[in-house]
Amino acid sequence: MQDCIFCKIINGEIPAYKVYEDESTLAFLDINPINKGHVLVIPKKHEPEFQDLEDLQYTSLMSTVKKISLLIKEKIKPKRVGVMVAGWDVPHTHIHVVPMNDTTDITSKRILEGSIQKYTPEEFEETVHLLNK
Ligand SMILES: [Zn+2]
Repeated sequence: MQDCIFCKIINGEIPAYKVYEDESTLAFLDINPINKGHVLVIPKKHEPEFQDLEDLQYTSLMSTVKKISLLIKEKIKPKRVGVMVAGWDVPHTHIHVVPMNDTTDITSKRILEGSIQKYTPEEFEETVHLLNK
C-alpha cells in the first residue's frame, strides 16, 4: 500500500533496524520499544488485520515470531518473552515480540506509549548486532 509506513520499510524506502528477513516476513526493532530488544514481526503482504491473512502467510509469520522469541530469550535473557497484536497505530499486521521482566510490560497501553527511557541510534545498532550474532 502506497502510504503505509511498514510497506515502505519492506520496500527499503524507509530505514529500519532489521533483525531478520525471509521471503514472506520481516522483523525489525520497534522504534519506540517497551524494553531493549522489542521487535516487530510483519508479513510482507499488506493486510491490516492478522486474522485476514491466508493460513500460509499466518503460519510463516508466527514461525518468524518463534525464531525471534528464541533469539530474544538467548541474547537479551528476559524473564519471559511476550507477544501481542494490537494494531492501533499502523494498519499493517504487526506482532510485537517483547522481552518482559515484569507482569505489566506488555499491555496495549504500554505498547502505545513505549518506553519511558529513550534509546539512541547507537543503542538500537547495539541491539541489532546482539540479535544478529
Ligand atoms: Zn503495509
